Amino acid sequence: MLIKRLEISDRSGFPARVVPARRRRVAAAAVQGGEGAAYRLRAVFSRIDHIGVAVNEIEPALELYRDRLELEVAHREVVSEQGVEAVLLDVGENHVELLAPLSEDTPVGRFLAKQGPGMHHVAYQVTDIDAVLASLKEAGMQLIDEQPRTGIRNSRVAFLHPRATGGVLTEIVEPAGGAH
Ligand code: ZN
Repeated sequence: MLIKRLEISDRSGFPARVVPARRRRVAAAAVQGGEGAAYRLRAVFSRIDHIGVAVNEIEPALELYRDRLELEVAHREVVSEQGVEAVLLDVGENHVELLAPLSEDTPVGRFLAKQGPGMHHVAYQVTDIDAVLASLKEAGMQLIDEQPRTGIRNSRVAFLHPRATGGVLTEIVEPAGGAH
């Protein structure tokens, strides 16, 4: 059976509109042809940098990820600007980032209180975070951080609002001194 109508996302990232087939083709052409926000946004994320996982405490989480799953710890740091103690574990060229809150009154502390431990965010690596933020803003994406802040290992990071990314908290990362 032919599907005549299709839900597509608006600029906020939420499936919000139902459009007829003719408009669906136009939307698909915009994605493929490089017109509009979809093309620009797809081109700026070079790869997944890490998956952020919220945990109550670092040590029990390390017993799972380091000792049982045998991932190698690449880095451990208190990132006061984000209110977390963070550990990066290697997974090939990418990482799992364990995040334990420094207090309840932090973004990760509030996340844990609401949802409990689990998947927290996805981070994409970019080479020029200022340019990417400008591009995201131009495309109408809702941002949490208009300006980059300091992330783990002196990276520069910024978060997009989950409302703009279909409910997935999304971070962009420009590593210090080039890609890791
Ligand atoms: Zn992160």
